Amino acid sequence: MSLSLIAKSISASPTLALNEKAQILRQKGEPVINFSVGEPRSRAPLDSILAAVQILNSGEVRYTPPDGIPDLKKAIIRYTEEFYDRKVEPENIIVSGGAKQAIMVALQSILNPQEEVLYPAPYWVSYPEMAKLCGGIGVPVPPEDGAFYPRIQDIERKVGSYTKAIIINSPNNPSGAVYSEEFIADIVDFCERRDLYLIMDDIYHRLIFDGRKPINPWMYAKKKDENSKMIIINGVSKQYAMTGFRIGWAVANKKLIEAMTNIQSHQSGGPSVVLQRAAVGALNGIQSSVENLRATLENNRNVMVDLLRSMEGAKVFVPDGTFYCFVDFSAYEKSSHKLSQLLVDKVMVLTVPGVEFGMEGFIRLSFAGSMKEIQEGVERIKWAIDPNA
Ligand code: PLP
Repeated sequence: MSLSLIAKSISASPTLALNEKAQILRQKGEPVINFSVGEPRSRAPLDSILAAVQILNSGEVRYTPPDGIPDLKKAIIRYTEEFYDRKVEPENIIVSGGAKQAIMVALQSILNPQEEVLYPAPYWVSYPEMAKLCGGIGVPVPPEDGAFYPRIQDIERKVGSYTKAIIINSPNNPSGAVYSEEFIADIVDFCERRDLYLIMDDIYHRLIFDGRKPINPWMYAKKKDENSKMIIINGVSKQYAMTGFRIGWAVANKKLIEAMTNIQSHQSGGPSVVLQRAAVGALNGIQSSVENLRATLENNRNVMVDLLRSMEGAKVFVPDGTFYCFVDFSAYEKSSHKLSQLLVDKVMVLTVPGVEFGMEGFIRLSFAGSMKEIQEGVERIKWAIDPNA
């Protein structure tokens, strides 16, 4: 079969593939513990379900404007004012099929072939593949000293004449690091001075611990008009436990949003109206589920970190947010793929190899599951790789 060069160059999302594997094992009745998942287990908010049911009952399930329905844009305008202190108009917003599609369409709108998009490592698995899909080049910026907090000087050193954009994902998947206010201020300033697009992937911005408040990159922008090249990405997947609803959005200057809308209008025509209505329900409804989820995740984090710390060879970074622990197991096994495989084969625990996020020797463990799973899963890992622990 003759496939395109692009198709041949793209690999399946390793995290989604692992999820599928977990489901197959479960269906076979295997006692699998899935630490590879990138989604909270709580139920979607009742308001989102009621809104979806209401439109389904009406039978009026039609095409929508390709950039999103007005009611959802209204809710996003309010969200943007609340969390970013930024006044925007509907033309500054595009609603997409998850934050994933919003980032993809943004990159398609700004990258020319061979142009580069930079992102600090460790990075989300999809950034390199998305850059490739646009004919561009993804350039990871490894942490100089092995720390998960990027330094502005390391990024500056990698920026060249082909650099078009920088993606910052904080709280970070996979490390859980929340980058400092100082770094965010510096990167906003740097991108403005160098006329680069800055994509803030804020999908986890409310899932933060230890009394932190979501960081607002817009606060540091000097260009606050239609010349701004900051693109803020968000969505309902993580904070409202609505991963399967596939609703995310981008907020940016009107010209860019228009270009993104043109592309999306031919790609998908925009997400389903049923799911957009559900997102309106979540954003306008009772908000307690977000805090409940955040508090549960903080508790889960504390337990997982404590359990992992009893393994002498594991270097455990305490995540500031998200629902991932990114652990350096290189003292036991240098190849993260080998270690991940061993954990499935020996103790039925699914994890994601760190090399997929640009860091060999690490393993990503999700603590979005139940307390019982966290306790038993870590016990199994210990038994599998460090029976003396
Ligand atoms: N950005 C990051 C860093 C993520 O981890 C994910 C999901 O795993 C996404 C974006 C995509 O989110 P969505 O489900 O809204 O497409």
